[in-house]
Amino acid sequence: MLRRTSDDERLCRSCAAGERAVELAGRAEPAVRTQLYRHSSHSNVHVLGSHRDVHVAPATSAGRPLRIALLAPPWLRIPPHGYGGIESVVALLADALVARGHDVTLLAAPGSRSAARTVGLLDRSHSDRIGASVIEADHVARAFEHVEREAIAGRPYDVLHDHSGWTALAMADRISVPVLHTVHGAFDEDARRFYAAHGAKASITCISRAQAAARPDGVRIDAVVPNPIDVDAWPADVPKDDHLLWIGRFAPEKGAHRAIRVAREAGRRLILAGPVQPGQEAYFAEEIDPHLDGDRIRYVGEVGGRYKQELFAAAQALLMPITWPEPFGMVMVEAMAAGTPVIAFAEGSAPEVVEAGRSGLLVGDEEQMAAAVERAGELDPDECRASVRERFAPDRVAARYEEAYRAIATPAPRPRPRAAAAADESEAIPA
Ligand code: UDP
Repeated sequence: MLRRTSDDERLCRSCAAGERAVELAGRAEPAVRTQLYRHSSHSNVHVLGSHRDVHVAPATSAGRPLRIALLAPPWLRIPPHGYGGIESVVALLADALVARGHDVTLLAAPGSRSAARTVGLLDRSHSDRIGASVIEADHVARAFEHVEREAIAGRPYDVLHDHSGWTALAMADRISVPVLHTVHGAFDEDARRFYAAHGAKASITCISRAQAAARPDGVRIDAVVPNPIDVDAWPADVPKDDHLLWIGRFAPEKGAHRAIRVAREAGRRLILAGPVQPGQEAYFAEEIDPHLDGDRIRYVGEVGGRYKQELFAAAQALLMPITWPEPFGMVMVEAMAAGTPVIAFAEGSAPEVVEAGRSGLLVGDEEQMAAAVERAGELDPDECRASVRERFAPDRVAARYEEAYRAIATPAPRPRPRAAAAADESEAIPA
């Protein structure tokens, strides 16, 4: 699509004739040998490959590119190989912001990979200590030091976008850069107290309307921005098997034990996947393990990569028998991206994320869930994919965040008229 006219200028033949494309320096991953170009007039971004030119989804960033620091949690690398909802969100968002032409630095666990510049903050990732305050505080303090050092060096960030937990928000008024904090968890009692005390220190975004509605009184939510999913990264050619799927962490509110009862009632095989995190051992031993028989009810451990995608894609349906205000639920959009409908209790975000009758079904209890399995099997996999593509495409999500960043970013200094600059200089000369 792009025709080379000289070393640093290209003309796009797929758009208006003679449109000039301007190189966005240093955006490409050298491994794939691509370079990104943005049209000077309408800001579409193109990827110029080494063998063929690819016209990628249009990015429509209006205004100057922003310098963005994305702060990931310290627990897992980006992108996660297995478990890691927030980490997949950060991974997709970082890439999408880069594709929109922004200068993005990802502050994350060492070993993280991204189209953004990555800065590893601690010695390693800490998947064995998820939630440990000593790790989180260390990670955030180093992130703040990085941000302040950049400002002192004359390269200030426009915004720090925090996904890391509690510490960064609690200290957000101690840093010179505006902070946007995404709430990833549910507003339980502890969280409500925390946000009531510290929520005014940053711009706050939520990931579903249901989550935002549960905020404590007086806490301002500046935007609701859903999590992204890249449908094209999921296989569309996996034949359907007869199993149902439950996948997640083994916290009782996620309902793995209820999924077992539902599968039995529906007379279907069930595959359970996910990590047993610290603190979940007793629940797993008492409520899950006794039911595993390696055939009708099978546990396959924590899964990742292509195997995880195939489990999702081959399933008849994903079961979400949740009994908590699920803030978003990445597994739901992943199932739909894989062409698999979701049957969920209508809790938290489920009524927003699942388009009932198109990409899944909403039910009230286990009996209804078992009865819905047959109907879910009749839903069209392509409609499931379309449902998430239309609403949660990474570029769309990145555009929403970009708007939120621009609302808090300090405006770039305007070039001053020469006369004013000269007057200042003369004032600065000592008498
Ligand atoms: N996940 C995974 N392997 C597993 C279990 C879960 O990769 O064995 C991923 C899952 O695909 C999703 C994330 O972990 O991306 C869980 O995110 P979700 O928002 O559903 O749940 P939560 O963040 O509440 O644990």
